[in-house]
Amino acid sequence: MEEDRELIVRKKAILLTSGPVQVPPRFRSPFPLSRSTAGPGAGSTSLVLSFGRFRVKKAITTEPSEFRLVGDGPTYSLMRGEEMFLEDVSIQPTIAHAPEQAFFNLDTQCIYHCRFCTSPALERKLTKGLDPDKVVAMVRGLSQREDLRAVAFTAAVVKDPQSTVDKLAYVISRVRELLPDIPIGVEPYIDTLEQIDQLKKAGADEIKLNIETFDREIFQKVCGELDLDHILEAITYAVEVFGRGKVTSNIIVGMGETDANVLQGVEELARRGCIATLRPLRLNDLNRRPMTEALGTLEELTPDRLLRLAREHRRILESYGLTSLTLHTMCHECGCCDIVPFRDL
Ligand code: SF4
Ligand code: SF4
Repeated sequence: MEEDRELIVRKKAILLTSGPVQVPPRFRSPFPLSRSTAGPGAGSTSLVLSFGRFRVKKAITTEPSEFRLVGDGPTYSLMRGEEMFLEDVSIQPTIAHAPEQAFFNLDTQCIYHCRFCTSPALERKLTKGLDPDKVVAMVRGLSQREDLRAVAFTAAVVKDPQSTVDKLAYVISRVRELLPDIPIGVEPYIDTLEQIDQLKKAGADEIKLNIETFDREIFQKVCGELDLDHILEAITYAVEVFGRGKVTSNIIVGMGETDANVLQGVEELARRGCIATLRPLRLNDLNRRPMTEALGTLEELTPDRLLRLAREHRRILESYGLTSLTLHTMCHECGCCDIVPFRDL
């Protein structure tokens, strides 16, 4: 049993570090396909594939690819070349962006230019023109769904952080009125500590403040307009406001940093009561060029590295009395893009 689990989590790591999944030209998904405007799949059409208790969100293509989805549903198989890779795969519906969650990106245009971020490069038609009241109405519509477990919001910074936080806080407060008991997560960029209080007061339960990398040299090259120390200070304050185990932060893996640096970042966050999300870097047509310009040619991320880091991640969280199971929104709950400690291994 344990061996099966090891094998299957390894397969998840392989999928997280591989390219799109090939589907037949006339492929008909049982559920609407996801076209995300945030997260690693931003800009691509993707599907959530579920196998056992694991799931991954994969971009799909009709071009030849390493992995191929075969079958007519409701159960499919995933072939790797001519070999069976996963026999029993199902397609899971997303509610908005994520399975079992309504996760909205309110804005994609951003005054900052983080090199890995695909959001600002998306075509305007993909940004869906989400005005705050429209989003609240969409959540109201989705609240009838039995599989809705959480709601979350993020937004790029169109004008300045305060106006983005105001917009997020408005939407959160309206959704909180509508759904008093649902967990609400928020992933903002903030520039004052008061904005953290504002989001909590509006009704958010969990907050994600991304440091993106703990390697200062890489941070400077990819997020040069942001301030790592300020984000760390904000995380400490967010833990005071939201509580231990209710704050999370992305560390992107695969930008040329060492394992030791990633784990130092995980530990620094844990020391503050914050749970890292170790996010495999995904390069695509929108971010490959800026990333290569900033960092040179990057070494490919391997499944072994992801698994090794996830195991150490779990060990560090344990040693600080933390677990990802306290988070009920956004990426830890979703689990589509990372190896999540305590859930996957
Ligand atoms: S602040 Fe956020 S949305 Fe803006 S460029 Fe950076 S990662 Fe993208
Ligand atoms: S893990 Fe996070 S970024 Fe990936 S699909 Fe889920 S909510 Fe989106």
